[in-house]
Amino acid sequence: MRKIECISVFDMLKVGVGPSSSHTLGPWRAAQRWIQELKDNKCFEEVDSVHIDLYGSLSLTGKGHATDLAVMLGLAGFDPVKMEIDQIDPEIFNIKTTKSIILNGENAIHFDPETQIKFNRKFLPFHPNGLTFRATLNNGKKTSSSYYSIGGGFVVKEERKNASKKMKSFQEFPFQIEKATELLAYCNAENKCISEIVMENEKSLRSPEEIHQGLKEIWDVMLESMYIGCHTEGRLPGGLNVHRRAFDMNKRLLGEATYNSPQEWLETIRNTEVKFRQILKWVSCFAISVNEVNASLGRVVTAPTNGSAGTVPAVLMYYMVIENHKATFEDVKRFMLVAGEIGSLFKKGATISAAMGGCQAEIGVSSAMAAGALTEAMGGTPAQVLMASEIAMEHHLGLTCDPIGGLVQIPCIERNAMGAIKAINAAEIAMDSDASKAKVPLDKVIETMWDTAKDMNSKYKETSEGGLAVRVNLSDC
Ligand code: SF4
Repeated sequence: MRKIECISVFDMLKVGVGPSSSHTLGPWRAAQRWIQELKDNKCFEEVDSVHIDLYGSLSLTGKGHATDLAVMLGLAGFDPVKMEIDQIDPEIFNIKTTKSIILNGENAIHFDPETQIKFNRKFLPFHPNGLTFRATLNNGKKTSSSYYSIGGGFVVKEERKNASKKMKSFQEFPFQIEKATELLAYCNAENKCISEIVMENEKSLRSPEEIHQGLKEIWDVMLESMYIGCHTEGRLPGGLNVHRRAFDMNKRLLGEATYNSPQEWLETIRNTEVKFRQILKWVSCFAISVNEVNASLGRVVTAPTNGSAGTVPAVLMYYMVIENHKATFEDVKRFMLVAGEIGSLFKKGATISAAMGGCQAEIGVSSAMAAGALTEAMGGTPAQVLMASEIAMEHHLGLTCDPIGGLVQIPCIERNAMGAIKAINAAEIAMDSDASKAKVPLDKVIETMWDTAKDMNSKYKETSEGGLAVRVNLSDC
């Protein structure tokens, strides 16, 4: 039997904390998993000291991506989905000043992040984002575990072990999909659109009510992150002194309009007259707002990563407030099911990790997800959905990752706006095309992206050792 990874829409769209899914959310999750591992091995109570080694890309851009903070919060037992954002700074301050940490909120030990979190330039062979947790127990024995943050918040210990676990659940999926051509064949054979096929697969994992509720929570976080970003002034943390722009953009676009909640804000935008320039500004504003929240360690939806978290909500919001004023949550659900499925095709066939494939794996994939989802929302056929995703990725091929100062700010924040605009354009081109005549199938562009990822110089893979990151100095900003 063919072995295919099982990826749910809830794997692709996840609530997390900024600024990075691979460098913040993944290491946070890894720390939580290690604590659980210690408990399972009945040695958690015996832990006397811990040391963490960050390797490769996690080390090179770890400071700017808050990897050290994420690891501490995970060890301390906080959850990235539930932790109050306002609590993060005080908790970190407390650990640093008392030089102690309460493991999982239960076991207080001495811990000095300056000396006990080590940034190693060396790369572990399995994946560029490796980290090792080491503990010394009260009886002097030592134990350690390595984890790999493989993009989008996914964490593995060893790929093969993880894959076999996933495969079991995959067998429950009624529609087994690895390639875009298979997805299209199911749509044609069943006379269903892509979201209906994906919904059938999701229903084999969760009840329709759970899917509805889960997607509602995802949408609430997306809308709230746009709202918060559009209503927060000031500068972003990290030392680049980046001015937050969504606040001014929103203000200029809405003038004196008043509203009291994210939903009222959405309705207010619907009632605003927009021409081409305003549309461009709104889409950019939505994308930038999310990534400003992400850059300030706020709560966003990883789609498929944190660095690219603004593209999908920006295009979805465009659909809700500009393209279709009558759109309801049922449209949001369909949009997300398609976006998640497109993202999973890239994860299976290539990568969603910038440390493996550069920015094409983040912004390129998010743009392809948004383009496909928008096309189905606008009434496109499954073939047109896949064509839109292909177009969006085709014009992101080779995009490098070179964040200045290792921070997810420049070029990342604007790049989401570009990804969103390209997604809308790709959807429009696909809607006007006979998809059966497309010269480049989606599967081919996924393979090409992976080929390009392998050919790309490693300095452009989330190391901040090439491109803008070396041309522009922190001191210039
Ligand atoms: S340049 Fe792209 S891939 Fe790199 S951190 Fe920024 S958004 Fe992520």
